[in-house]
Amino acid sequence: TIKSAPHSTYCFFDINMQLNLQREAEINNTMEQALKDREFVVYLQPKVNLHDNSLVGAEALVRWIRDGIIIMPGDFIPIFENNGFVVNLDFFVYEEVCKILKEWMKQGKKLVPISINVSRVHLHDEKFVDNIKSLVDSYGIPYNLLELELTESIFLSNTEAALTAMRQLRGLGFGVSIDDFGAGYSSLNLLKDMATDVIKLDKEFFGHDNMQREEQIIVSSIISMAKQLNMKVLSEGVETQNQSDFLRSVRCDMAQGYLYSRPIPVGDFEKLI
Ligand code: C2E
Ligand code: MG
Ligand code: MG
Ligand code: MG
Repeated sequence: TIKSAPHSTYCFFDINMQLNLQREAEINNTMEQALKDREFVVYLQPKVNLHDNSLVGAEALVRWIRDGIIIMPGDFIPIFENNGFVVNLDFFVYEEVCKILKEWMKQGKKLVPISINVSRVHLHDEKFVDNIKSLVDSYGIPYNLLELELTESIFLSNTEAALTAMRQLRGLGFGVSIDDFGAGYSSLNLLKDMATDVIKLDKEFFGHDNMQREEQIIVSSIISMAKQLNMKVLSEGVETQNQSDFLRSVRCDMAQGYLYSRPIPVGDFEKLI
């Protein structure tokens, strides 16, 4: 078996690589038309206050719906980050979110902020903050109804640009948060420079129901540190009541996860308001 392994492994990778290349080529060839045809759809996932389970916000998460099949962002965002199309897609998503908020304002609905994901690619454009501002202004949306999520990894690869964008956004009054906190290399020493309102604890911390003692210590320490830095903490990927009970006991502020709701179409989300 040892002898045949390299051969079969080679075949396996070869076929997969070919499939990946085919899929990537197909995505490259269809993405622009798909955007025009409105195949990209914004879903909303509720964020809840852990103390009373009330709805306090939403995260906009994009889906590609093609011939009735839902394609998840993990299958196309990395490709769009490489070919640059993520900029077009994100501004489409941001505009959809403005339209949603505008509609809620018009209908007199209770307003909750919606967060949007910021790709690292945006930071290569020094007009990024201006562009967001113009878009939001054109819809007349108060800045505090939008929260921009910057993933922790952006701060490590592109520290200065990320810190600058974050300060500018926050200076204007947008909400800002650090996504996937604790997932990669620790950016603890950067926290002091991060003008953030919210830290989103990565869902890896909640990958299984019975958190180990060590994990509990780490999570509760991050939460108490954040509190002293005047930041709020939201735990992502909360799936069980045990996790939610633990998080409440260590005074985590907010949660997001399948325990409360999956990301859902906007119409379904509106029924929750
Ligand atoms: P993210 O921003 O960290 O979003 C949270 C992800 O966790 C979402 O995956 C969400 O569906 C998933 N999630 C929520 N609750 C649970 C749970 O209880 N258990 C588990 N296992 N997962 C949970 P999704 O929607 O597949 O998005 C994946 C990533 O793709 C996002 O991670 C974000 O980085 C990126 N993404 C999604 N939409 C956009 C977008 O419009 N623009 C950009 N640039 N990136 C996006
Ligand atoms: Mg996010
Ligand atoms: Mg995240
Ligand atoms: Mg992520």
